[in-house]
Parts: sequence; structure tokens; C-alpha cells
Amino acid sequence: MDAWTGHQVPRLPGSGQPLALYDSARGAAHPSLPQGPATMYVCGITPYDATHLGHAATMITFDLVQRMWRDNGHEVRYVQNVTDIDDPLLERAARDGEDWVVLAMRETALFREDMEALRIIPPTHYVGAVESIPAIVGRVRTLVEQGAGYRLDDGTGDFYFDISAAPRFGYESNLSREEMLVLSAERGGDPERPGKRDPLDPLLWRGAREGEPAWDGADLGPGRPGWHIECAVIALDLLGATIDVQGGGNDLLFPHHECSAAHAERLTGESPFARHYVHAGMIGLDGEKMSKSKGNLVFVSRLRADHVDPMAVRLGLIAEHYRSDRTWTDEVLKTAQQRLARWRDASKASAGPSGVDLLADVRARLADDLDTPGALAAIDAWADGALAGQGTDTDAPALFATVTDTLLGIRL
Ligand code: ZN
Repeated sequence: MDAWTGHQVPRLPGSGQPLALYDSARGAAHPSLPQGPATMYVCGITPYDATHLGHAATMITFDLVQRMWRDNGHEVRYVQNVTDIDDPLLERAARDGEDWVVLAMRETALFREDMEALRIIPPTHYVGAVESIPAIVGRVRTLVEQGAGYRLDDGTGDFYFDISAAPRFGYESNLSREEMLVLSAERGGDPERPGKRDPLDPLLWRGAREGEPAWDGADLGPGRPGWHIECAVIALDLLGATIDVQGGGNDLLFPHHECSAAHAERLTGESPFARHYVHAGMIGLDGEKMSKSKGNLVFVSRLRADHVDPMAVRLGLIAEHYRSDRTWTDEVLKTAQQRLARWRDASKASAGPSGVDLLADVRARLADDLDTPGALAAIDAWADGALAGQGTDTDAPALFATVTDTLLGIRL
């Protein structure tokens, strides 16, 4: 399917530093050193509701990764999926008496608008689950032929992945089996289901049910794909056996990314599937976790409709480090709006402190696991200096505006 429209990203003088990123599998930050084009797969939305600030924060995080890679001279191949068939989508459509296809198309269109407004560089390939079904069927059949997938013996036509076929299962999340069982139950898994070889075995293919959409699964029988295999197959087909970054919110650490990696590694024989598993923190509202069950989601489209500058939203979401779970308040937005106004004033100064030094500082901070608070502090200091009449670098104000645009995606 089509992604959204991109914008020109200006080039900066000189070159950046290698980006160090925290890898959840190794539990530490390591440099990302792509061989050839840099490859990234980020798990996209299930389009049953509008983009909230948690989605936006995750997409901005990986947008910063892409911007740093580009600044380092890498070509970037970036794939994002849309889970345009899954239980939450069907449940919401049924609740609202709406056609699930219409719901998915509308929310995906709104997501594209939000991404464009937030100046997220579009992915190279934006791919839906539905359009990937033939490829997924082929890969599930391969797993079954290899003995890594099996049909549940209860007449449903459901197929599961046997986690004992993935010897490194657990390396990505580093969780105990007890923790995995809890998270599996909380996040769409079914550890209690009878007949599975292991309670943690994830669904590969759901056999057709009365009243649910189903697709041709060849000898699997009609049905629809599981979520983890969807991402594994799209990533393998478009980016190859090993990718530089697998990204998403930290609620995808387990089971989603663990199971996607297990599927991919079993299919290719290569491990690790991703050189870095990178997870963005959750966004809460006024100290509470933002969730659909609490009804306290803040939607990007709602803020846009209220004439909030998307650049202020973006700035508010990067004021704290991407890995920390953080909270959105009126105060966070107000601070971001004031900072944006101050930066815009500073960019109109006739001179300021050294622009080259500012660029080096911002690059160094972002290269250190995307230290946005550090980068923002360096930019604030430059802006304060320029507004106080310090410095004689007349090229600096223009460079200042390019630094915020190119590296942070904030257009002044
Ligand atoms: Zn995914």
C-alpha cells in the first residue's frame, strides 16, 4: 500500500558519528554499523483507532534513527507494516457495526496524515498484512514441513509454532519463563489453550471461523495469519535475513519481537534476526498509563484539530529519553510550545555562538543512544546565547535551523 508523502531533508556539512543504540537482547548500547544499506523494520499500527501519542513517540524515535543513519551517509531501507487484519480490528468493527475494511482504511488514512504532519520520513515500503497473505502462507507451510509448525488437534484448523524449534527462544527479551507466561496472557497470546505443545507456542495461522474473514491457505486450509509471523515474513521478504534494527514500543519486547525473531531465524538459519532490538517507552497521561481501556488516549489528530503545532507535539515527545516511560501533561505541551517559539526567534537572530560547535554537540548527543534531552539542552544553550546577543557567527542562525530540521525533524 502507499505510504505518506515525505519532505526534503536538508544535508548538513561534515559527517556524523556512528549511532550507538541500546539493544534489548544484549542489555547495553552498542554502535549500529550497517554493512551497505541500513535496514530497519518497525512494527506499525493495527488500524482500529486513531494515532495516539504513544504511537507518535515510537514513530518519532525510529525517525530519529533514520535521520542519524542518513547523516552518517547510509542509504536507508525502512519497512513498516499495517496489521490490517487482526482480532482488535474485527472486535472494534463489530462493536461499532462497521465494515472492518472501511474502518481499517479510514484509520490508516488518518495515520498517514498524522505522520506527515509530524514530519516522519516515510518508509521505503509500507505493507499491509492482507496484501502479504500469500507470502505468509508460503512461509507457514515451510515451517510446518520442517516440523517447526503444527496443526492443533481440535478441529479449528489453527496452526502454532513450536518454540522448541527455536533454540535461542528468550534471548531477545531476557525474561524468565514465568514472566513470559504472564506477558503472553496479557498481550494477545493464549498460554491456557489446551492442546498446544508448549503454552508459549504462538499462533501462526488461524483457521476460518463463522463470521470472520478468511483467505486461501492452500493445504493449511482457509484462515488468516498470526501477528508475529506477519512481521517476520514482511521483514524477510523486503529486507533480507538479517536487519540492523527491529523497532517498536516496549510492549512489543515480548511476545511479539521474541516470536518474530524465532520465526525468522528458524526460516533462514541465521541468528540474530536483528542486530539491534530497539524499544521505545510508553506515554502516559497525567501520570497514568495511556490505554484504550482507561479511555484516556490523546490523539494526534485531536491535537491537530485544536490547532496545536505538530512541531510542538514532536518536541514535547522528545523532551525526555525515548527509552523512558514518560507522561504527557498540559505542562509538557506548554513547555514544548515555549521552546519552539524561542528556537524560532533565535533562528531569526543576525548572529550567534558557533554553529559548527552546535552541530558537533547535537550530533554527539544523538549518537549516544539518541540522547534527545542532551541535544535539546545544547540547542537551548545556543538559542539563549543568540537571543542574548552573544557570538559573532553570522552563518550560525541558518545552520541552527537546519540542525533542528535535519537531525530532529523540527522545522522552525
Ligand atoms: Zn511487528
